[in-house]
Amino acid sequence: MAKVSIENIRKQFGAAVAVSDFSLEIAEGELVAFLGPSGCGKTTTLRMIAGFIAPTAGRIRIGETDVTRLPVHKRDTGMVFQRYALFPHMTVAENVAFGLEMHKIPKADRDGKIRRVLDMVRMSELRDRYPRQLSGGQQQRVAIARALAIEPKVFLLDEPLSNLDAKLRVEVREEIHALQRRLGLTTVFVTHDQEEALAIADRMAIMHDGIVQQVGTPDTLYERPANLFVADFLGKMNVFKGRGADNVFQTEAGQRIAAQGGSGATHLGVRPERVSLREQPSGGNALAGVVESSLYLGSILEVRVQLEGGDRMVSQVANGGARQAQPAPGARVYACFEPDDCVSFTQ
Ligand code: ATP
Repeated sequence: MAKVSIENIRKQFGAAVAVSDFSLEIAEGELVAFLGPSGCGKTTTLRMIAGFIAPTAGRIRIGETDVTRLPVHKRDTGMVFQRYALFPHMTVAENVAFGLEMHKIPKADRDGKIRRVLDMVRMSELRDRYPRQLSGGQQQRVAIARALAIEPKVFLLDEPLSNLDAKLRVEVREEIHALQRRLGLTTVFVTHDQEEALAIADRMAIMHDGIVQQVGTPDTLYERPANLFVADFLGKMNVFKGRGADNVFQTEAGQRIAAQGGSGATHLGVRPERVSLREQPSGGNALAGVVESSLYLGSILEVRVQLEGGDRMVSQVANGGARQAQPAPGARVYACFEPDDCVSFTQ
């Protein structure tokens, strides 16, 4: 395995900038997820690492080797695509063998390698089937085996789970994660699914309009988003507009909220699961209001509260079932949360 250094890469298609000044060091054995909405530039960045497209500017190194101008097959990367990209006229074993042939692995070594990677993804018994005789999850396992058979220095995955249904998505995701850990693979995983990224990434790079917004561990990005885009992309957040000064944030509607620091802030965010609803005020912030509506989401309830003064807040509370009184529309409540649950933003 090897580290990957991405140094100030940029990609333009004509006048359009798809990726702008992207820099990132990916450590040996680390899994980094590139996360962002459609069109943000994550696939383009991955394809530049793989070598399918050349950057307009900047440099990419794998280990100590500058690979910026090297063709795909000389980069020691294994890639998995959203649509599996298996050859329909080849069996499972032949699909895996093809990658080995392309990389000029001697014939004598191929069989052992094929057996090993097919075992790894639990596809040995189906080695003589054709792709059309496999489920989506099985086809993706074969694609993973094909990528790993060449023992690449870097493992690249481009939305590998998008074509699978919800349950299978979690299953294959966990398999990929376990393999990545066991083999210590330096991995880049592109996705637009925040839950997927949070679940498997050591670090995530959140992208928007070709620009990296923030890089960090899942909990840092979720708890301390650098800006409103990251906050919003990684889940729901109550956002107040106003002004921050001396540990107090004054909302435009006149609400005073105790928050740490945040001098000069223009927005204040609080995650809904940090807001508890109580009959009596409690803790650092207790904002009086009336329950507007309650949404049943299975394991949680999402309760909308109209605060005195005009602001609104959403609280997510665990579904306590029949033993716990549910907040009913019209009930008077206090939306309670602590100053350190608040995140200040300056944009
Ligand atoms: P998606 O999840 O939809 O694949 P993405 O974040 O991976 O999105 P990219 O595919 O990297 O986004 O595209 C980034 C931007 O570059 C988009 O605006 C896209 O239209 C543009 N783009 C990508 N490839 C080309 C190309 N070959 N020619 C022109 N523009 C392109």
